[in-house]
Amino acid sequence: MHGDIDRVLIPHDRIARRVAELAAQITADHAPRQADGGEITIVPILTGALIFCADLIRRIPIAMKIGLLTVSSYPGRSIRTQGSAVLGQQLGDLRGRHVLLIDDILDSGGTLRLVTPLLHDLGPASVKTCVLLRKDRPSAREVPVEYVGFEIPDEFVVGYGLDYDDYYRNLPDIVTLKQQVYRPESRQP
Ligand code: 5GP
Ligand code: MG
Repeated sequence: MHGDIDRVLIPHDRIARRVAELAAQITADHAPRQADGGEITIVPILTGALIFCADLIRRIPIAMKIGLLTVSSYPGRSIRTQGSAVLGQQLGDLRGRHVLLIDDILDSGGTLRLVTPLLHDLGPASVKTCVLLRKDRPSAREVPVEYVGFEIPDEFVVGYGLDYDDYYRNLPDIVTLKQQVYRPESRQP
């Protein structure tokens, strides 16, 4: 798996520092709202946001619930979006709650454009969005998000939850892969 890495874009220690900063910012923004009685539900978009969310919420010392949404946009060996589709959800009752939607990466914006109205329809007090990565492309900047970890170049990345064909999610760093990995006959998991 490590032999497939081309470049380390963001090493794990930098990710950890930025996750701590985001958590501090989110905590500060939500503490006053919580005093008004509105609790948070954190909604990671699975599977990509799993690891980011797990690290982030352990640094947010506020009463919260977790809701789950599974969305597919890069099925199998795709490195371009195939259009986003909701595959499953387990959100609980969101009425009157402050929803914080968490995604791994903002690319075409299709996922957030699909999911945000679905959440608003469930009657939350507010919906905010936090993404770890935002790609440097116009479509990504058109979608409003409150919290962004890192701006990255328009390249396909894996690691820290992000996959290629469902592999590489457990790499601790955010990396690019060697071109040969994308040739089906040469991939060795
Ligand atoms: P969007 O819907 O904004 O185009 O992309 C969002 C989803 O597409 C992400 O949650 C992620 O699952 C997938 N995605 C977008 N760009 C990348 C990338 O560079 N690498 C990986 N592994 N997935 C990506
Ligand atoms: Mg994905």
